Amino acid sequence: MQDELKNKVIKALENVLHPDHEKNIVFLGIVSGLESQNGNIRFAIEVTTEDGSRMEPLRKAAEAAVLAIEGVKSVTAILTAEKTNNKHQRHASAKKPKLLENVGKVIAIASGKGGVGKSTTAVNLALALAQTGLKVGIMDADIYGPSLPMMMGINEKPDSANGKRIFPIEKFGVKCMSIGFMVPKDTPMIWRGPMVMGALEQLLGDTEWGKLDIMIIDMPPGTGDTQLTISQRVALAGAIIVSTPQDLALLDALKGLNMFNKVEVPIIGIIENMSYFICPKCGNRSNIFTHGGAERTANKMGVDFLGSIPLEMEIREGSDKGVPIVVSTPHSQSTATYLDIAKLILESKISTRERYTPSISIE
Ligand code: ADP
Repeated sequence: MQDELKNKVIKALENVLHPDHEKNIVFLGIVSGLESQNGNIRFAIEVTTEDGSRMEPLRKAAEAAVLAIEGVKSVTAILTAEKTNNKHQRHASAKKPKLLENVGKVIAIASGKGGVGKSTTAVNLALALAQTGLKVGIMDADIYGPSLPMMMGINEKPDSANGKRIFPIEKFGVKCMSIGFMVPKDTPMIWRGPMVMGALEQLLGDTEWGKLDIMIIDMPPGTGDTQLTISQRVALAGAIIVSTPQDLALLDALKGLNMFNKVEVPIIGIIENMSYFICPKCGNRSNIFTHGGAERTANKMGVDFLGSIPLEMEIREGSDKGVPIVVSTPHSQSTATYLDIAKLILESKISTRERYTPSISIE
């Protein structure tokens, strides 16, 4: 009975044509993971990452075709990004990165897991880099949980000249872009894989960044579609990994490192955040966590250690109030640390864009 229904589903999907090929999606071999349980049908349609949300009508058509079958109670069709089902090297379609061509250096700020202070570090570093006189942009690539609007205190929507190109919002001398500027706060966002890529491409490519010396991309935590899309579509000069001192976080940071190594994006270095505690009353320093873990990991991995940022009340307050510490307290010790790290980034050997045209290997 189950198999009979599955056969009917396949037959129905044979009537659904792919808009680009005029062939049906079963013939093209892009239907996968077909499951049938008590009349509830689930399957996936594999599309290329570039197609993104353009294939949404195809998904809907496939769902409607299956729903029309007698005995089918519900249908869930999802779009999944193109997959390779072997271990061979696959050269990314975007071998020649096309986005952010007007930016001198694009640097990704990444972390193995959330909550380690990656966004706080990204924002303060962008501001520190701007203080050296460079033209700086920051792009919030965390489309699931954008934090740039809050951290930079931006509540307005970006302007658009013709409804297509959008202007980044300039704050504290840095050009900013985030999906959070466009969607209301507290609106849960559900993104399918290909939609994530479409949204990222728009944020990167449809934004009038102008000429920039440096762009900081605040990555979502972990390793996923966003990291792959960005390393495919942008010539990253390198990635910086932010980690807290706890061993567990470091294990996660290692995963982050391996992922960038795989896509041949060089690691500029590791930053240890919440490294030690500065008492807001007496200013004393205490090493509440095992200190120095990130530095040891950096040495072990053969990458640079860029610095330790303390766990400090003012840093937290700055990100929550929308005035990061580098702007609110320019003469503090922590601001000096961010500035030192910014200098190290600028001095780092990584400078040529062309050297790193990523080729992605998927296992
Ligand atoms: P992530 O981007 O890794 O998820 P966030 O930058 O959002 O992390 O930081 C998580 C929380 O920790 C925020 O409330 C932020 O203000 C706070 N925070 C980050 N770094 C520090 C720090 N060095 N000292 C104090 N609070 C910090």
